[in-house]
Amino acid sequence: MSIPHYRMIIGGAEIDTDARYELINPATEEVIATAAKGDASHADAAVAEAKRTFESGIWRNLSLAERAEVFEKAADGLERRADEMVRLTTLEDGTTVRLSNVFSVVMPSANLRHFAQMLREYNPESAGDLVGPPFQSGKVRREPLGVCAAITPWNFPVALGAWKILPALGMGNSVVLKTDEKTPITSLILAEILKEAGLPDGVLNVITGDGETVGAQLSAHPDVRKIAFTGSTEVGKKVSEASAGNLKRVTLELGGKGANIVLEDADIRTAVDGSIWAFLMHTGQACESGTRLLLPSSIHDEFVDRMVERLKTIVIGDPSNPATDIGPLISAEQRDRVLRYLDIAKKEGATVAHGGGVPEGEQFSKGFWVEPTVLTDVTNDMTVAREEVFGPVLAVIRYDSVEEAIKIANDTEYGLTAGVWSEDLTAAMSVAEQLESGAVWINDWHMINQVYPFGGFKQSGQGRELGPNAFDAYTQEKAIQVGVEKKLENRAYGLVLSTPSPN
Ligand code: NAD
Repeated sequence: MSIPHYRMIIGGAEIDTDARYELINPATEEVIATAAKGDASHADAAVAEAKRTFESGIWRNLSLAERAEVFEKAADGLERRADEMVRLTTLEDGTTVRLSNVFSVVMPSANLRHFAQMLREYNPESAGDLVGPPFQSGKVRREPLGVCAAITPWNFPVALGAWKILPALGMGNSVVLKTDEKTPITSLILAEILKEAGLPDGVLNVITGDGETVGAQLSAHPDVRKIAFTGSTEVGKKVSEASAGNLKRVTLELGGKGANIVLEDADIRTAVDGSIWAFLMHTGQACESGTRLLLPSSIHDEFVDRMVERLKTIVIGDPSNPATDIGPLISAEQRDRVLRYLDIAKKEGATVAHGGGVPEGEQFSKGFWVEPTVLTDVTNDMTVAREEVFGPVLAVIRYDSVEEAIKIANDTEYGLTAGVWSEDLTAAMSVAEQLESGAVWINDWHMINQVYPFGGFKQSGQGRELGPNAFDAYTQEKAIQVGVEKKLENRAYGLVLSTPSPN
């Protein structure tokens, strides 16, 4: 049976290459499709198309309501293709079907409708006050930046792509999206859906290519005015350095090492399940996971015992089966990386309370699998507590006072998410306010919602996506000022002209 082949979209045309990626189903190791392998010349061509369409005004000169309409039609289009999106997400990155529906359909279509609504309510101009003397009036306008580039990782490609391309397009920019080389399919479909909804050709271009070539080229490109990147902290720093050449605006959503603090009075039943949800969603391949569980010594053993019992109920396996709770890791490389971290943790003194390796059984002979793993006796100086593992691994750390828990939580270079579990909301809020983290979740986790901004403190990132100011990152302010001072002697002319005007 022949497998599908996916091409890039540049200037509305499907662009192919001789070189091809093989796209692998991480649950079976089967090649499910091939994709064009773009290079730096494709990055240049896509930027040129984006620049051409931006300068033409074909999109930016539409009214906000017209752009909103395209988003609304695209939301309808995405919902019509929901089954296909779910199936392909699960095939290309091993996301379980229950999650695929959320991240590739429900969230992006909600984003499309939300940004459409924001566009309908948005006023890009505000009247400046009359100030003086010398008197001046004026206005402040928000204008698009021009060509914006978006670089996305393999996890949640559609959702994380939508966070970038929708506010960029909404504000009238033209966009080049570089998908991760392992997971291009669903992003290409999203672009197709936007085109069908009325987005003019060349306003959104999608390149499938390597980071070191295409990603680096976009980061350094003199015609790209803004770059929005989600990925590892290490690559984020490279993007930031490369973008300095033309002082691009940069948004970076990077790694995390989320501290999940359970207070002594927490509802243990909710907190145990919630802490599993926090570290295990998408087999732990989420930047915002709660990967350090901070437990008070008084309830530590009971909590861990309950958690291990609950983890025994987790169904790991075929992600296309709706009964499956967690699927595979994205690649052999990622599985081996996670297993290496487990070895290091054991050598450094951690105890494996649950899991700890590749699950046994014929069904796991192919694919990239790691068991849900709980490590106890972890201290915050151990490698597994300091570095992002990006797999189904939880590091449990004991604490003896709330002050100590806050200190441990903040003792990291990351600062993306954190959480607190307590029945006392005042106490939880007080802890939340002391945590160095872009998001703090109380009595739940993964509460990402488009009305709240998302982004990191410290080395977890720069700038924010979503939230009430999402458009700001894709616009620049222009102050237009009008001199209306009637008395010439009030003007500052005298600083240069020492005699008054004769008439
Ligand atoms: P990665 O940094 O290796 O790759 C991310 C993207 O960057 C890919 O498209 C890749 O091709 C590209 N890239 C690689 N080298 C590049 C370069 N030199 N210049 C420009 N682009 C380059 O990340 P990954 O391993 O694919 O994804 C997992 C990482 O992403 C984790 O660290 C995770 O925490 C992070 N992440 C963060 C968020 C967030 O919102 N903060 C969300 C999801 C994932």
